[in-house]
Amino acid sequence: MRTDTNLSIDTEAIALSLKNQSRCSDSELKEILVRARQMKGLEADDVAALCTISDPEILADLFRCASEVKEEIYGKRLVLFTPLYVSNLCRNDCAYCAFRTSNKGIARRALSMDEIAAETASLIDEGHKRVLLVAGESYPRDGFDYILKAIDKVYSVKRGSGEIRRVNVNVAPLEKADFVRLKDHNIGTYQIFQETYHREAYAKVHLRGRKTDFDWRLAAMDRAFEAGIDDVGIGVLFGLADWRYELLAMHQHIRHLEKRFGVGPHTISVPRLEPAEGADLASHPPHPVSDLAFRKLVAILRLMVPYTGIIMSTRESADIRRETFALGVSQISAGSRTNPGGYSDDEKKSAAQFSLGDVRSLDDVVADVARLGYTPSFCTGCYRLGRTGADFMDLAKPGDIKTHCAPNGLSSFLEYLMDYGKPATQKAGMISIANSLESMDPEPRRRAKIMLEKIRQGRRDVFC
Ligand code: SF4
Repeated sequence: MRTDTNLSIDTEAIALSLKNQSRCSDSELKEILVRARQMKGLEADDVAALCTISDPEILADLFRCASEVKEEIYGKRLVLFTPLYVSNLCRNDCAYCAFRTSNKGIARRALSMDEIAAETASLIDEGHKRVLLVAGESYPRDGFDYILKAIDKVYSVKRGSGEIRRVNVNVAPLEKADFVRLKDHNIGTYQIFQETYHREAYAKVHLRGRKTDFDWRLAAMDRAFEAGIDDVGIGVLFGLADWRYELLAMHQHIRHLEKRFGVGPHTISVPRLEPAEGADLASHPPHPVSDLAFRKLVAILRLMVPYTGIIMSTRESADIRRETFALGVSQISAGSRTNPGGYSDDEKKSAAQFSLGDVRSLDDVVADVARLGYTPSFCTGCYRLGRTGADFMDLAKPGDIKTHCAPNGLSSFLEYLMDYGKPATQKAGMISIANSLESMDPEPRRRAKIMLEKIRQGRRDVFC
């Protein structure tokens, strides 16, 4: 059943905007950056104009502006999660993905519930609290029930005081009725990427299966919202089409959701094409995005939708990840494996979806992030207190969310350090916590101190 969303990407408007704004003067670009500092988001023409920046001085101003906005809204927090791949079965044929159905050379595997429990236990023992459950776009015998059972299984695993407290889900676009069932299983964010908003580019790389239907995928978030899921994550696989086009199309998608449902996506993911076994195109992106353009697009996104989380995966190298934290990234995956069974059972060797640029362990990433002055956060408080969708934005926009997130981030970080951190990580972490407390406003600092004391005394899962 097709949903009538009235959503279509207006390619002519994008082309016009890019053409007109290419003539923007330096002073006009600077004016846009002044407006961006007000943290009210940007209109399409502003986004198109910022895409044209090449002057080093204005580029530096763009990066500075994005850093300031990031700091003002998110402080020093960086939320950590990891993907949990439960299956690499897939009926689609995406030219950039190792799981594509035409790739006959890889071992296929859908984890049993016991195997999912073993994977979950490994992740909990590493210190994770949030996972993104991922599956290829076809399921074993039980159909979609397999995913629902997998979610329940992840939540059911306890290891002392360790547990997964938030399961986000990245699975194929669903009918509305299945989105309703998904919501009933206590998920955090439902995430799906359009891959590319460029219809022709999309057709060239999606060769078989349900995913060939561009409109079905584009309307997925409408169906999710209609089903009551108000916490959704969108994304683009950068490299399939011109990144400037993708930003403006994403802008249209977000404005559509805001207009229709009163709230946009909770997160935006920014994967770049990376080599994948049996998928040559992934090594030769049709529209490669240079490191400089990538940093630029992250900074522009930060200004375009200041209150929307930006997710950076381990596709990128440690260096690029570090650089983009300051430019607007608010969530990162760490210690990731992209093959089913990759955390607990590497013996069975199933194929990974793509190559990783950052293969460090969670603890190494935590130590690095702390040394850079950030607070690695494992907090799941908002979602568990029902602060999602419009309720989250109502808190976030006046800046109130900081009084919750900053103390919650610190208490979840201390919990990690005490239960899982290696000595060197603990040392770096304690310094980072002390510095964060010092730079906090009085009220959140008061709250944070009380919460940290509770963690020191042995309480766990303390949030406000
Ligand atoms: S990208 Fe997703 S849908 Fe496409 S082949 Fe890979 S797993 Fe299947």
